[in-house]
Amino acid sequence: MSDHNWCHGPKCHEQHTQDRIRGVKGSKVLRTRKIKLNQWNKNHFFRFFCSNHCYNQFATQYIEQIIAIAPRTEALETPINVSKETVDHPYWGKQTNTEIKVDETRLTSVG
Ligand SMILES: [Zn+2]
Repeated sequence: MSDHNWCHGPKCHEQHTQDRIRGVKGSKVLRTRKIKLNQWNKNHFFRFFCSNHCYNQFATQYIEQIIAIAPRTEALETPINVSKETVDHPYWGKQTNTEIKVDETRLTSVG
C-alpha cells in the first residue's frame, strides 16, 4: 500500500502557494499536494485532503454523488424526556432551566 495520497481537492493544484511549485524555470507548475499517511490522519478525511478548503471544494462539486451513498428520505427522531425547573437567580431573578435527556427505554436500533 502507498504511503501517501494525492489531495482530492479538485482545485488543489490551482492554489498559489510556494509548497505547490515544482519544476525548473520555464516549465514550473503548481502541483496537487501530496499527503503523507501517518497516525494523525489515518482515521480522518485529512488523509485524502490537504485542507478544509480542498475538502469543501470536493464536497461541493460531488455533493449529489455523496448524498446518493446514504440518502435521507425522512426525518430521524431521538426519544427524549423534557423537564423544566424554575430557579431563583440572585442577579437575574426567576429563570427556567430546560433539561433534555435521551429516553434510553424508547431507543430502538431501527435505522
Ligand atoms: Zn489540497
